[in-house]
Amino acid sequence: MGASKRVILDRIAYEPPVNGDHLIKVPRKVLFMSANDYYENGKLVCSGIVCDGCGNAIMTPYVWILVLANPWRVWGAICEDCKKRYHSNKPAYVMVNKQTHIPI
Ligand SMILES: [Zn+2]
Repeated sequence: MGASKRVILDRIAYEPPVNGDHLIKVPRKVLFMSANDYYENGKLVCSGIVCDGCGNAIMTPYVWILVLANPWRVWGAICEDCKKRYHSNKPAYVMVNKQTHIPI
């Protein structure tokens, strides 16, 4: 993917904000510097982020991060398709800031 899991951890959470396996919807600009993405006329044409599940480029303005609870760890980024296919039963949260995650 376009950034290491260490970078994700640094950007989204210093400690577990939520118990249990879950998904966090994170604006891509929070995770990645603009240099990782390539825009043409304001439209994202080449993504610096790929899905850790299927390997496809993630082109959405947000990125789903899969977080596993035991032991607590960031699994990686997943695309909308993999979320629907494999993780639709997991609770999802939107990240407000590093410490605050609101259920969606
Ligand atoms: Zn995927």
